[in-house]
Amino acid sequence: MAENSKIEWTDHTFNPWIGCQKVSPGCDRCYAESLAKRYGWVEWGPHGERKRTSAANWKKPRQWAAAARGASRRPRVFCASLADVFDNQVPDDWRKDLFDLIAATPELDWLLLTKRPENLVRMFPTGPWLNVWLGTTCEDQERYDRRWPLLAAQSNVPVRFISYEPAIGPLVPHGVVVGNVFRTPDWLICGGESGHGARYMPAEWAEQAMWQCEVNMTAFFMKQMTGKKPIPPQLMVREFPHVGAR
Ligand code: SF4
Repeated sequence: MAENSKIEWTDHTFNPWIGCQKVSPGCDRCYAESLAKRYGWVEWGPHGERKRTSAANWKKPRQWAAAARGASRRPRVFCASLADVFDNQVPDDWRKDLFDLIAATPELDWLLLTKRPENLVRMFPTGPWLNVWLGTTCEDQERYDRRWPLLAAQSNVPVRFISYEPAIGPLVPHGVVVGNVFRTPDWLICGGESGHGARYMPAEWAEQAMWQCEVNMTAFFMKQMTGKKPIPPQLMVREFPHVGAR
C-alpha cells in the first residue's frame, strides 16, 4: 500500500508488507487490523500471515524520490501504517529489501515507527542513516520508560521521535543518559484515540507532555484530540524537528 497520506505529519505512507500482532495496550483497537479484516487482506496475530505488497507498490518511493529532486522541502514517508518494520515474524530478506530501497532514495526522509524497539539492535543495520527518522510508540508512561531508552541508544539517525498516540495514560517524556550523553526525544507527536469506543485523553495529559517537550527542546506536534474533537487553542502546536543540511 502506498498513497498520498492523510496523516497530518507525513507526505506519503508506504507499506512494504501488511500484517502484525498486538504487543501492548496501544494495539487494542488497531486500525490496521480492522482494515485487514474488512478487506480480507491477512489474518492478524501470531499465527497470521505477513503479506508483501506488490512490485508496483515498491516502485512508488523511487517515483516520489525522483519527483523530489531539486525540491525546496524533503518529503516525509511514513513506513509502515499496516505493519511493524521490526516485527519478528517478517523475513529478514524483506527487511533487507526495504533498507536497500531507503538507501536508494536519499531525497526522502523515512519515518520508521515501531512498538518493538527491543529489536532495533538486531534488525536495524548499522548506519549512518541520514534519511531515517526512527520512532517508537509510547501510549503511556510505562511504555515510554521501557521503549525510549532502547530508541535513545540508536545513534545512527538524525531524528529519534515518540508517537504518544493513542494516548491512554499520562506521559512525561524525560531524557535518559546514553553513554555520557543526556538524550531527549527530537520530536513528539501527541494524539488521542479515534473511532467508536475511543479511550479518553484529557487535554491535561497533552499539555503536560507539551510543557515537558518545551523544557527538553523537543519539537511537539499535536495531531488530534480524542474522537478528533477540536484541538484547544493552547494545544494547537505543530512543530517539526530541526534537521541540519544533508
Ligand atoms: S504494532 Fe501497530 S500494526 Fe501492529 S498490532 Fe499494534 S497497533 Fe497494530
